[in-house]
Amino acid sequence: MVDLQGQYAKIKAVVDPSIQEVMDSAAYINGPKVHQFQKNLETYLGVKHVIPCANGTDALQIAMMGLGLKPGDEVITADFTFAATVEVIALLQLTPVLVDVDPVTFNIDVDAIEKAITPKTKAIVPVHLFGLAANMDAIMDLAKKHNLYVIEDNAQAIGASYTHKDGSKTKTGAIGDVASTSFFPSKNLGCYGDGGAIFTNNDDLAHTIRGIVNHGMYKRYHHDVVGVNSRLDSIQAAVLDAKLPHLDAYNKARREAAKKYSEAFKNHPKITTPSGLESHDEDDVHVFHQYTLKLEGVDRDALVAHLQENNIPCGVYYPIPLHNQKAYQDERYNEEDFKVTNHLVKSVISLPMHTELDDEQIEFITSTVLNFINND
Ligand SMILES: *Cc1c(COP(=O)(O)O)cnc(C)c1O
Repeated sequence: MVDLQGQYAKIKAVVDPSIQEVMDSAAYINGPKVHQFQKNLETYLGVKHVIPCANGTDALQIAMMGLGLKPGDEVITADFTFAATVEVIALLQLTPVLVDVDPVTFNIDVDAIEKAITPKTKAIVPVHLFGLAANMDAIMDLAKKHNLYVIEDNAQAIGASYTHKDGSKTKTGAIGDVASTSFFPSKNLGCYGDGGAIFTNNDDLAHTIRGIVNHGMYKRYHHDVVGVNSRLDSIQAAVLDAKLPHLDAYNKARREAAKKYSEAFKNHPKITTPSGLESHDEDDVHVFHQYTLKLEGVDRDALVAHLQENNIPCGVYYPIPLHNQKAYQDERYNEEDFKVTNHLVKSVISLPMHTELDDEQIEFITSTVLNFINND
């Protein structure tokens, strides 16, 4: 699905010395590279505070801890996402409230959010799924109206922008009260191990969070709140700082590959290509963490098997709606309220998507998919 070796080969000359600097300095924890990367990412995103941490799941958890959410508070998020989002809500003994998604963008459905709001609701967690921003203007309006926090899960969309109603643009992760991201190797900005970060424009919240990531310490050995130990390694920061200047080019390469895929599948009666590639859309609208097709009248499992036989990796993100996962079932849920997710889990397939895809690979992948579907 990804070609991390190919990508590394091209940037080895910058990454290796950056790592070597950390080795030579022995500043393995909280070294200058971490600070340097933090500052560079703040500038890139146009956000006041970046707080690096150990991974994207921690980032979400810490964001929720920073907001002071309490057991029993309800947090609304999408039914169609990676489990980390709902996992941390449950782990903090908050009450996850899963809602359906939009059939075109695959992102959280704003009408469904509104219907799910109760007096106990405290926060909304939109996930910018597969690299496309959720409907943030509507979500922010709703949050304002009901006095709710917005926590953006930006793990799949770093570098993407959201275009507001007035035409202005903001990078995803810089819109809500707080945001989280992941630097897992396969993410759009990935390190060579685990990593994550929290973003916010709120000075007080940033201060609170900086203590939480470090055992709740604001002064050495004074533990004011219950915190965690969640740090970005200096070596990972060195990798990320070397890769950050390439992020826009990486996202552009993903988008170019997506355009070629979509061109090959254009107007096919059984295939719906992803949104976010309309002619007026700019390069940062959809950063294609995944390139995901929706199929109708195709035996998806047989297609997966066919691709595997041809040595083409593919993925089904995500095969089971979160509300049907054993850990997250809740008797209050009604299947009727999850029509879109219930359909997507059966009809989506994601094709290889990375920065190193060449025309020959894309042609082989698209013709293999089309051969199967046209003869199915
Ligand atoms: C990857 C991912 C996470 C978790 O990130 P980790 O760094 O693996 O903990 C959270 N949310 C979404 C939507 C993700 O894709």
